[in-house]
Amino acid sequence: MAEPVKRLFFALWPDAGYREALLAAMRHWQHGYPARWSKPENLHLTLAFLGNVAASQAPRLLEAAQSIRAPAIALQLDRLEYWRKSQILCLTPTATPPELARLAADLSSALAKAGLTIGTRPFRPHLTLARAAPRPLTLAQDLPALAWQADALTLVESTRDSGGGSRYAITHTWRLG
Ligand code: NAP
Repeated sequence: MAEPVKRLFFALWPDAGYREALLAAMRHWQHGYPARWSKPENLHLTLAFLGNVAASQAPRLLEAAQSIRAPAIALQLDRLEYWRKSQILCLTPTATPPELARLAADLSSALAKAGLTIGTRPFRPHLTLARAAPRPLTLAQDLPALAWQADALTLVESTRDSGGGSRYAITHTWRLG
């Protein structure tokens, strides 16, 4: 019988304050812009996507994450971007903090050393706001300056809910800093 698998990814998960600020802004942006907007509880920034991981690989995966040493990261997602190919609307940093790039690279090499494969897309930090997005979104006002102090690395399981949407469940958390 095939071994059970879980669809997993590593991410930075917004704290309640940042998420609420983001949601307040999103409520304005959603008006008159039909797309599949992310559910509030799904907002995140992916660091490494593993895809299907067999149960037997879990100990190596957790050990790899445990080995990561990184500081908390001050993030400014200050750009609203439209990615035409994937049809997503997302927030990105104008300048990627070096600590963020290092964390993603360290994680990727720790996972590779542990024999785990991750998605081959180059790391482009982004927080997806909406999928099936039809066009760029032009804002009447400047993007609000929302600061996010990311202080934990999370391992997340992705499943589908009964409506065919994604449901994410944090399975493990490691403090940064
Ligand atoms: P997902 O595919 O499980 O992705 C979770 C996170 O990982 C997202 O942030 C996504 O980034 C990122 N990601 C996905 N593939 C990646 C890759 N190859 N390289 C780097 N990062 C990657 O969940 P989702 O994005 O919410 O759903 C996307 C589609 O998959 C939907 O059509 C959904 O219905 C389906 N899905 C399938 C399952 C399943 O069990 N087979 C579970 C959940 C969702 P972005 O934000 O840039 O997309």
